[in-house]
Amino acid sequence: MNIILLGPPGAGKGTQARKLVAERDMIQLSTGDMLRDARKSGTEMGRRVAEVMDRGDLVTDEIVIGLIEERLKGDQRGGFIFDGFPRTLAQADALGELLDRLGQTLHCVIEMQVDDDALVERITARSTCAQCGEGYNDIAKPIPADGKCEKCGGTEFIRRADDNAESLKQRLMEYYKKTSPLIGYYYAKGKLCSVDGLADIDEVAASIAALLDRAPA
Ligand code: ADP
Ligand code: ADP
Ligand code: ZN
Repeated sequence: MNIILLGPPGAGKGTQARKLVAERDMIQLSTGDMLRDARKSGTEMGRRVAEVMDRGDLVTDEIVIGLIEERLKGDQRGGFIFDGFPRTLAQADALGELLDRLGQTLHCVIEMQVDDDALVERITARSTCAQCGEGYNDIAKPIPADGKCEKCGGTEFIRRADDNAESLKQRLMEYYKKTSPLIGYYYAKGKLCSVDGLADIDEVAASIAALLDRAPA
């Protein structure tokens, strides 16, 4: 089963994708994570990407489509979760073509609905385990009192350079201008489902599980 998690920054896409990986052996394809890896590489491309990301703008379609194309060629286990991709209509068209070429289907697009106030709160409280990538939140899911990651025991936690109020404002603007049209795009294709992203993490997971169990294989 191949699905897209669609929603603004902070909607909970990464959190839910990680649960699906653990529970359904699916493969998370997060273009945000791939781009953060690219910027760590220290290449010229990495430096350019870093600048764009820190401003809160989108990187070019060409770069992210290339990253996704590369990953689709490998093993596909329980299917792909597209997390943070596609973000533009051009990316959505390109994904459709790539899946067609591989004889693959997109089963459903899950729109995670949240309001802007909750996003600001979530993003400024977000941190991640440096070792295993487990996500934490100062309010909803604090780092355990012993200071150790519950998944791997790691003791270093990082905050993203773009998780500040100013960059978030620009990321939200980009979302409404360029990404939210995908809601209508996938609705018209009969692929859109929505969940209440404001519910607790486990409740959101249960809503997504119910949708996946109902979706045609
Ligand atoms: P969030 O989890 O907050 O939604 P991501 O980790 O998905 O953020 O993305 C972080 C940044 O990486 C974006 O603000 C953008 O600059 C870049 N990015 C990630 N995915 C894409 C994409 N599909 N197209 C263009 N830019 C992207
Ligand atoms: P996205 O990948 O869509 O940008 P994340 O999954 O990184 O979003 O979630 C953003 C922040 O909000 C993280 O700190 C995460 O722990 C927290 N979070 C995720 N889902 C929920 C939820 N349902 N309720 C409260 N906080 C949440
Ligand atoms: Zn960890």
